[in-house]
Amino acid sequence: MINVLVNGAAGRMGREVLKTIWNADDTELMAAVDPQAAGEDAGVLMGIGSIGMEVKSDLTSALESARPDVMVDFTTPGTVYGNTMIALERRVRPVVGTTGFNPEEIQRIKDTSTKFRTGCIVAPNFAIGALLMMRFAAEACKYFPNVEIIELHHDQKLDAPSGTAVKTAELITGMRGEFKQGSPLEVEKIPGARGGEFEGGIRIHSVRLPGFVAHQEVLFGGLGQTLSIRHDSISRESFMPGVLLAVRRVMGLEEAVYGLENIIFER
Ligand code: NAP
Repeated sequence: MINVLVNGAAGRMGREVLKTIWNADDTELMAAVDPQAAGEDAGVLMGIGSIGMEVKSDLTSALESARPDVMVDFTTPGTVYGNTMIALERRVRPVVGTTGFNPEEIQRIKDTSTKFRTGCIVAPNFAIGALLMMRFAAEACKYFPNVEIIELHHDQKLDAPSGTAVKTAELITGMRGEFKQGSPLEVEKIPGARGGEFEGGIRIHSVRLPGFVAHQEVLFGGLGQTLSIRHDSISRESFMPGVLLAVRRVMGLEEAVYGLENIIFER
């Protein structure tokens, strides 16, 4: 059995993760942490009634008393880096879905994970379809170097652009390098109209509207043709097989892996 603590348990993703960990045959829910729901019963958050597990507000003390093998984190961009470090320092393996890390934070997590020989998986997107969308986009940019990314999410998302858009741009930049697209004479009459410019010159556009879950379209333009690669997560269940896979695979790691594609496709 893999003993799991869920951090951010009362959030939209956290509730789904609670159910997934609770229902899987090889995982045991050891603790649920979320200051927003402190004192509530974790079973109530899952919609199954009381299971006799009180949601805790403090991650450090919950890790020290529950002593889980794995911490799954779906919290907020402002807290996730600290949460991940707190877990690693206690030799608890983080599986992190929260987005909003900067590259320096990712590097420090990798260094800490290696130092403590404690596995860690940070995945901006746990949906297999999204991983394939990123992979296909990286392949397509070899032939279509002119590309823009449009990501669309629910209007309560805290960070922009999405971690998936950043990861996609990183993959494309790694494949095509610096590339100047569009006209050098272009004028942006409304600041931001052309989206944010990622290193390497890729434009990312972030849409935030109620009704969306998590969606991304990578648009390529060539001579007399366009190519669109689109992925839609229409419910948060789409992320759960990937979360469960990461919980299982992190047990065998002694370093940090950034991007579930490195677990699914390369090994
Ligand atoms: P959410 O509904 O706002 O849930 C986050 C929860 O974490 C809230 O209940 C929040 O409480 C709580 N929280 C904040 N700080 C905390 C801390 N220090 N310790 C414990 N709990 C804390 O957000 P969501 O929609 O579930 O998304 C969570 C994150 O996952 C976002 O970054 C999102 O982009 C990301 N995400 C990733 C994937 C993926 O596949 N990797 C998929 C979907 C979403 P308060 O409301 O009181 O702050």
